[in-house]
Amino acid sequence: MAERKFAIVIHGGAGPDSDFIIQNMAKYEEGLAHARDAGYRILEKGGSAVDAVEAAINSLEDNPLFNAGRGSSLTAAGNIEMCTSIMRGEDRKAGAAAIIRNIKNPISFAKKLLDSSTLMYVGGEEAIAMAKDLGMEIEPDSYFVTNHQVDVFMKAREARKGAFKKTFHRAHERLHGTVGAVAVDKHGNVAAGTSTGGTDFAQPGRIGDSSMIGVGTYADNATAAVSCTGDGEYLIVEALSRAITAMMECTGCTVQHAMDRIIHEKHGGSKGDMGAIGVDAEGNIGIAFNSDRMHRAWKISDGEAVIRIYK
Ligand code: ASP
Repeated sequence: MAERKFAIVIHGGAGPDSDFIIQNMAKYEEGLAHARDAGYRILEKGGSAVDAVEAAINSLEDNPLFNAGRGSSLTAAGNIEMCTSIMRGEDRKAGAAAIIRNIKNPISFAKKLLDSSTLMYVGGEEAIAMAKDLGMEIEPDSYFVTNHQVDVFMKAREARKGAFKKTFHRAHERLHGTVGAVAVDKHGNVAAGTSTGGTDFAQPGRIGDSSMIGVGTYADNATAAVSCTGDGEYLIVEALSRAITAMMECTGCTVQHAMDRIIHEKHGGSKGDMGAIGVDAEGNIGIAFNSDRMHRAWKISDGEAVIRIYK
């Protein structure tokens, strides 16, 4: 019997282009390849989609170039607030956490919650204490803060003199993105995960889409695993990952078709950046974004290994 197709797709955020991205192109590509291959190796050995998603996202969280884990963006108060979620398509179990800090790998904390029978979505100080109790790796604030993010923060503060008066988040000024991964394993199980440092100079306490099941992340073996990125305020009202899978459920269309309808046809001209990656249980992938770029990479067991940043 022919082996089932397995696959992984990852993203490193959708949004506007920047000089920083252009100057660091080779390093971004290297980081994407490293993360994709970390997940793919697990799938190749017969590991689960959820483990592959965690491994790929851990690699991006540890990479200071991406806005998740180390390298997270700074809020308008100059601190870090991270959000994350993971979902398994086999039993539609999920784990998610919002407004957390000091946890080295937020996605691994979300996975711990997925594996726990009681809690699914936690946030704030109590969640951080819980992560410590669960033995998650903890790092000081200085581990997460990069020169690049301090630079972005200083420029944003200068540009908005007296910015604390403007306590709302201006979505269209967001510079860099989140990370995510979707995978299907040799058993036909799918999984999706998303991890973020949020948006640059955001109002402290803001929660975007990335920790929300049905918005940033969704996975169901019957439809697909989807991870989203872009301006959280737009993604939340669209319930993007669930909108994509619901369209598949209702019309029987492919994950690519559902993404094209929602992201290109409905939101092509929208002011909000939107991006999504997806894979179904047969290994068919979907990728769409309406922004200048979406860092992304994928590998399908019977296909090539690909890395892309622009259209
Ligand atoms: N969606 C994330 C948020 O709004 C940011 C991103 O994907 O770049 O927090």
